[in-house]
Amino acid sequence: MTLKEIKAGQSACVLTVGGSGALRQHFLDMGIIPGTGIKVVKYAPMGDPVEICLHGYELTLRLDDADKIEVEPISDTVDQTSEPPKSVNEHLGLGEGGRFHPKGSGDPLPEDTMLTFALVGNQNSGKTTLFNQLTGAKQHVGNFPGVTVDRKDGAILGRANTVITDLPGIYSMSPYSSEELVSRDFVMNEKPKGIINIVDVTNIERNLYLTMQLLEMDIPVVVALNMMDEMTGNGGSVDVNTMEAMLGVPVVPISAAKNEGVHELVDHAIHIAKYQEKPQRQDFCDENDHNGAVHRCLHAVIHLIEDHAKAADIPVRFAACKAIEGDTLIIDQLCLDENEKETLEHITLQMEKERGLDRSAAIADMRFSFITKVCASCVKKPGESREHARSSRIDKVLTGKYTAIPVFIGVMGLVFFLTFNVIGARLQGLLETGIEALTGVVDSALTSAGVNEVLHGLIIDGIFEGVGSVLSFLPIIVTMFFFLSLLEDSGYIARVAFVMDKLLRKLGLSGRSIVPLLIGFGCTVPAVMATRTLPSERDRKMTILLTPFMSCTAKLPIYAFFVDAFFPRYKALIMIGLYVLSILIGILIALLYKKTLFKGEAVPFVMELPNYRLPSARNTLQLLWEKSKDFLQRAFSVILVATIVVWFLQSLDFRFNLVENSHDSILATIAGFIAPLFAPLGLGDWRIVTSLISGFMAKESVVSVLEVLFNAEGGVVSAMSSLAALSLLVFSLLYTPCVAAVASVRRELGHKWALYVIIWQCLIAWIAALLVRLVGSLLGIV
Ligand code: GDP
Ligand code: MG
Repeated sequence: MTLKEIKAGQSACVLTVGGSGALRQHFLDMGIIPGTGIKVVKYAPMGDPVEICLHGYELTLRLDDADKIEVEPISDTVDQTSEPPKSVNEHLGLGEGGRFHPKGSGDPLPEDTMLTFALVGNQNSGKTTLFNQLTGAKQHVGNFPGVTVDRKDGAILGRANTVITDLPGIYSMSPYSSEELVSRDFVMNEKPKGIINIVDVTNIERNLYLTMQLLEMDIPVVVALNMMDEMTGNGGSVDVNTMEAMLGVPVVPISAAKNEGVHELVDHAIHIAKYQEKPQRQDFCDENDHNGAVHRCLHAVIHLIEDHAKAADIPVRFAACKAIEGDTLIIDQLCLDENEKETLEHITLQMEKERGLDRSAAIADMRFSFITKVCASCVKKPGESREHARSSRIDKVLTGKYTAIPVFIGVMGLVFFLTFNVIGARLQGLLETGIEALTGVVDSALTSAGVNEVLHGLIIDGIFEGVGSVLSFLPIIVTMFFFLSLLEDSGYIARVAFVMDKLLRKLGLSGRSIVPLLIGFGCTVPAVMATRTLPSERDRKMTILLTPFMSCTAKLPIYAFFVDAFFPRYKALIMIGLYVLSILIGILIALLYKKTLFKGEAVPFVMELPNYRLPSARNTLQLLWEKSKDFLQRAFSVILVATIVVWFLQSLDFRFNLVENSHDSILATIAGFIAPLFAPLGLGDWRIVTSLISGFMAKESVVSVLEVLFNAEGGVVSAMSSLAALSLLVFSLLYTPCVAAVASVRRELGHKWALYVIIWQCLIAWIAALLVRLVGSLLGIV
C-alpha cells in the first residue's frame, strides 16, 4: 500500500520511494528513506495535502506525492532512543571554554586576512536571529520556511576583519529550489574561510543531514546547536563533547534568541577560520554497514575521480557522493571521459545490487544511519516539548477540518477591520489633526512674513497639501504590516499555506504561493522578492504576475480618499468590495494563465510546519520601524518631488509664465493628449489623468496630485460624479503597479515581463473600469 492510504494517527514504515529527479532527491534529503517510520498526523481540511511526522518533525506532502511512497503499516513509531550512555570521553580538545584546538601553535592566516563566514542551516533554524545577534543588524526574522531570500552580509560586532553572510535556509546541498542553489554556489564558489552551521537541536536528525554534507566541503566548520533553551527546558540534553568527537568539528550549544553561547561560538568560528582547521572527519560510511557496499563504492569513486575533482576545484568526497547520486551539474564540472563515466556507472550499479537500494537512497541512508548513531550516543531527546504540545493544540483549531477556513476568513477579516476601522483609522485621525494644525501655523507665518505668492502657493498648496495627505496614511500602512508580520512570525502563515494548497492548486499554484500573495497586500516589492522561495520557475513566474492583483497598502490612500468623499455611508462595504473584486479578477487571470502561458502542474508541496512561536517584541517593533522609515523616505523623496514637479507643471505654461487658470498649463496640455483614452471611463479630465500618471511613480501620490490640481476649483467632489469615482477606484485598483514594483519584477523576470506587467495591468484595469461604468449606469448610479 502507499502512504496515501494510511489514516490520520496511524504509522507506517517506508518500503520504497518512487518518483524521479530532483523531487525524489528532495524526499530522500528530507529523510523519507526506506526503513524510516512515518506517522500520518492529519489531512488538510480539504483532504489534501497531508501532514506527516518523521524523525521528530512535521512535513507536508500532497496526496499525489504520498502515493509514490510505498509503505507497510506498523503499530507505532515510538523513538527508541533512551538515555545516551554517559561515558567520560577523551575528546579532541574542542569546544572547551578557551582551550581550543590542538593546533594552537600552528600557522595562522596573516593578521589582516579578511575572515569570511557563511551562515548555513535549515530553514527556520534561527540563522537570521543569530545573524542579527552577531552583527547587530536588523534583518527581518520570520517563522515561515524561507523568509531569508537574499544573502546579507555584515561584520561580526567587535571583531575586526570579519564578514558573515546570512544565506537562505537549505536542507541539503542538492539544488532543489533556486535558493538552495544560491547557498550551494556560495559555499562552493566563494569558498568562505569558515562555515557556521546552525543546527536546530529540537530537530537534530534532519539538521545534521546538511551538516554531514557541509563537512565534505573541506572548509572549516563550527556547529552551533541552536534552540538549546527549548531543548533543556523540556528535559533534553546533548553530550557536546561526544558529538564533537564523532563529527570532528567544534560544537557549541547556543540560544540565538536569548543570546546565550554566542560569544563562545564567535571565538570558535574565528579560531577555526584563522588556523584553517578543516573538519577532522569526512568518512562517515561504515564498512560494517550492510557489508560495506556503500563504503566500498564511495571509496572506489573517490579514487576514480580524485584528479578530476582536484582539477575542477571541488572537494573530492563531496564530488564522489554527488557523482554517485547522479548530480549532473557536478558530473559535468568533473569532465570525466567516457571510460571513467562507464566505470562510475558500473561501480554504482554494483553498489545498488549489493545494497538493495538505488543510488540516491543508499547515500541518504548512509548519512542517516550515521546520524542515528550520533544521536543515540549524544542526544537525550526531550519529552514532547511544551512548544510542540501547544502547537498541536492550536493546530486542532487552526487547521481543523471544519474550523480552518472560517478561522482564516475571520483572522483576515479581523486584521482588515482593526486596520481600517479601529486602530489605523484612529491614529490616522490624530495625525491628520496634527498636520492641519501645522499647515495652519506655517500658513499664517508665511502670510505675516509677506512671502512671495508663488512660493507661498508652492509650500502650502503644493508641499503641505500633497505630502501631508499622503503622510496621514502612514498609520494604516504600519498597522497592516504589523498584523501581517504577527501572523508570519507566529507560524500561522505556514498553516495557511497547508490549508489553502488544494484551492491554490486548482489555480495552478501551490500553497506556498499564498505567502507572496498575502505579502502583496502589504507591498508588491517584498512580495515579488518572497517568490524566490518557490522551488519551481513556473510557480514563481506565475505568482509574480499575480501579485499586482493583491491591492497594496499604497493604494489605500486612494480608496480612503474617494470612499470618504463619495460614499461615506458604505465605507467598509466598498473597501471590502474592492479587495474582493481584485482577488476575483486575479483568480480569473490565474485560470487563464493555467490554460495558456503556464500549462502544466504546480510543483510538489513539501514544506515543514514549524512550531508556533510567540513573535518577539523586538522583531515586530523593528519591522514597524523599517516600514515607517521606508514610507517616510518615499514620502519625502519620490512623492515630494512628484508633488513639486506637478505643481510647477500645472502653474506654468510653455513660456514658463505663471498661469491664471491651470487649464493653460503645461500639464494640462500633456495630459490632454492622453485624456481621450480615459473618456469612455468617465475619467477624461486632464487632472485625473495626471494624477494617475503620477501614480506610476508612487500610488500614494495620486491623492496628493489630485488635491493640488483640484484645489483651485473647489475640490474633486464637485468635479466628479459618483460613478466616475467608482470607475476611478476600480482603475486604480488594477492598473500598473508603481515603478518600484515594476523594477523588482524586472529584476526577477527581465525586461520583457516588466513591460508585459505594465501594459497588461493597464489593459485589464481599463476594461474593468469600463464595465463598472456600464453596469453602474444601467443600475442608475450617477
Ligand atoms: P531562519 O529561517 O533560519 O533565518 O530562522 P529565523 O532566525 O527567522 O528564526 C525562526 C524562528 O525561530 C523565529 O520565530 C525565532 O524567534 C525562533 N528562534 C531563533 N532562535 C531561537 C532560540 O534560540 N530559541 C528559541 N526558543 N527560538 C528561537
Ligand atoms: Mg532567515
